[in-house]
Amino acid sequence: MRMLAALLIAGAVASLSVSAAAAELRVIAVDTNLADIAKQVAGDRASVESLARPSDDPHHVVARPSMIVKLSRADVFARIGMGLDMWADALLDRAGNASVQPDGKGYADCSRGLRALDVPTGRIDPSMGDLHPEGNPHYLLDPAQGILAAGNIAAALIRVDPAGQAYYHSRFLQFGERVKAGLQRWSTALKGLPSRDVVPFHKSWAYFLARFGLREFGVLEPKPGVEPSPGHVGALGQSIKRAGVKVILCESFRSKRWPDLLAGQCGATAAFVPVAVGADPQAGDYVAMFDTIVQRLVSAAR
Ligand SMILES: [Zn+2]
Repeated sequence: MRMLAALLIAGAVASLSVSAAAAELRVIAVDTNLADIAKQVAGDRASVESLARPSDDPHHVVARPSMIVKLSRADVFARIGMGLDMWADALLDRAGNASVQPDGKGYADCSRGLRALDVPTGRIDPSMGDLHPEGNPHYLLDPAQGILAAGNIAAALIRVDPAGQAYYHSRFLQFGERVKAGLQRWSTALKGLPSRDVVPFHKSWAYFLARFGLREFGVLEPKPGVEPSPGHVGALGQSIKRAGVKVILCESFRSKRWPDLLAGQCGATAAFVPVAVGADPQAGDYVAMFDTIVQRLVSAAR
């Protein structure tokens, strides 16, 4: 009996230490795209959670007290940066966790190393809209920049957990290979479009369009973050009609009101696509999200 009790205790201790080792690190990402990329890199050495929900507009995420609790316990914090997730700054202050502050070991600004697009030159004033003061922050919609983000996250994981270096590095390479295979697939699919011109709702697609050799013909929002007006939609509809542009590209979290109005005026098709992992049943991970985006864009262009 004593023997059995000793065995049970030994077993319990062993299983405790296994479960402690299995999820030692806590990674908090600002959105579900970075959370998915972090999962791909961290594998079973970390638990990963997102602050934003898949249906959120990444510019306007409503802060909740539970987010401060998550950040206070985080070992790694992965953010988009470039002002897109400035809503997280106050949460980070309140969390008081030194390791995920900007000079902490676990801080990963995933825009580090990015060649930014649409960086304003000269004076910035309110007439330019108010959402992209540091340049265009929507770089994660270029799948190749997902590899940049994965590298920044891997570096933070290695700083806080050097014993996992080889593991993180090999998973980072595997993720990169999956994205590269996707890039070939998406390039081939988008080469067949009848027109290179696309009309986005918001200036979120600059990196995506540049990657695949597509052009922004006009934008439904007159300025980033500024609501369209009937006059702007009317003028844009006229020029879309003349040029024969086929696709209005919209994040699925947006209201259909303006895209449908524009589509009705010019005969183009509004494609509503997920821009966050989990925003659509087909967008179960970062690579699958681009399969869905490309598929919907191609079918809208027909
Ligand atoms: Zn934006």
